[in-house]
Amino acid sequence: MPEASPFPASPSCTLPSRLDCRVLVVGAGPAGADLARQLAMADVDVLLVDQLTDLSHAAFSSAALPLATMDRFGLPARVAAARWSQWQLIGPGERRRQWRGSGTMGVVLDFAALRRWLVQECQAWGGRLTLGLRAIACRPEGQGLRTRLRDRSGAVLDVVSEWVVDATGQQRALIGEAPAGRDPLVSGVGCEWLVEAPPNLWQDWADQLAFCLGSDWVGQGYGWVFPMQPGRLKIGVCRLADGGRAQRPLAAELRSVLERLFTAEQRQSLRVLDRHGGLIRSRVHRREPHRRGRLLALGDAVSTANLLGGEGIRHALTSSRVLAPLLLRALDQAGGSDALRGYPADLRRALGWRWSLSGRLARRTWLGLRSPAADRRLNALLQGLETCTAEDLSALLFAYRFERYGLRAVPYLLGWR
Ligand SMILES: Cc1cc2nc3c(=O)[nH]c(=O)nc-3n(C[C@H](O)[C@H](O)[C@H](O)COP(=O)(O)OP(=O)(O)OC[C@H]3O[C@@H](n4cnc5c(N)ncnc54)[C@H](O)[C@@H]3O)c2cc1C
Repeated sequence: MPEASPFPASPSCTLPSRLDCRVLVVGAGPAGADLARQLAMADVDVLLVDQLTDLSHAAFSSAALPLATMDRFGLPARVAAARWSQWQLIGPGERRRQWRGSGTMGVVLDFAALRRWLVQECQAWGGRLTLGLRAIACRPEGQGLRTRLRDRSGAVLDVVSEWVVDATGQQRALIGEAPAGRDPLVSGVGCEWLVEAPPNLWQDWADQLAFCLGSDWVGQGYGWVFPMQPGRLKIGVCRLADGGRAQRPLAAELRSVLERLFTAEQRQSLRVLDRHGGLIRSRVHRREPHRRGRLLALGDAVSTANLLGGEGIRHALTSSRVLAPLLLRALDQAGGSDALRGYPADLRRALGWRWSLSGRLARRTWLGLRSPAADRRLNALLQGLETCTAEDLSALLFAYRFERYGLRAVPYLLGWR
């Protein structure tokens, strides 16, 4: 069961009607909590709020990462639930392909533990945290902003700050939705079960990231089994939303993945500990406002989540690493708000050109994966990958290094074939 939170929500009877701070960060996901942590480390008066009353709840993210991310963002071992050193791709059909790395290649994070660690760090550096508050509006006031927050009882708190950061993820609660234009929001929806498995069954899936690929597994998406702490697995499915066609309920897709991967007896032995899921919504070209006056946005709120592998944690952390020094300069009188002018371009550079290419590829691959012909194309691509190493596969799926597969693969990847 999830650990009890050390951060109980503020009871509404103790909620003041107004608070002042220099920076209000709304959303304690990886982006917002990491930004608040960095601001607190620089001695900025920062208030971090989240609508969740307990950061152990809604741990929706599967959280598979390459090992380098742990180093790059200084994440401690205790936020990792498991390590992995192999890839297993199952499908199309019953075909199984495995790639074994020469050592640990990555981790599966405990998403709740990651969020808890980030906010603990923020608090340890003097940042303030209040849970159970939902931001409902934000408007200019004097030189800064007034943000209205509401708790579950309906009590209202107004926060007056110099800057507000919308880190509410795909909800974009304050920055809002940009008009669709030529760069529409592409939505992926996922659902996942955290299960307890007997040791011998857990062992079958330990130390690897396993994906089920092919329209016969999940139409317009994919399934996965990830190891967590000993005796625990995450089993999930995700697919892109296609307004143009009827899609099977996602829960039915998950059930059929379970039925194909596990015998009836094995399924009997699984105990479901948690069911969760969520949305990923990103714009492939990321043409959306990153700022409105003194309201800034980062992470999934500015489409840093990548739809190819439904991956967003390290990109959300990248956005906080790009924004933090700029915001610190803006907070410093000398820098003024000019310091933030380059933020969208800096973030685009940090994500790299491959990020957008992989977004196009994601749309092409997942939306098109709905027929035997698409399965045959996918099978041919996977066959071509059989001779590569597990490390090469990580470079493809995490670093989007498509060019390694030679020019023959490029037309497929760009959707010309
Ligand atoms: C099913 C699924 C599987 C995924 N698997 C992976 C994976 O394997 N690897 C990976 O890297 N990424 C994965 N992701 C994506 C990843 O979880 C996100 O990209 C990442 O969490 C984005 O971080 P963020 O801080 O921008 O937003 P979020 O993590 O979404 O955080 C936003 C926070 O804002 C809070 N909030 C929202 N609205 C309000 C409001 N009005 N007022 C106050 N608080 C508010 C929310 O409670 C939340 O805590 C997955 C996502 C889903 C849905």
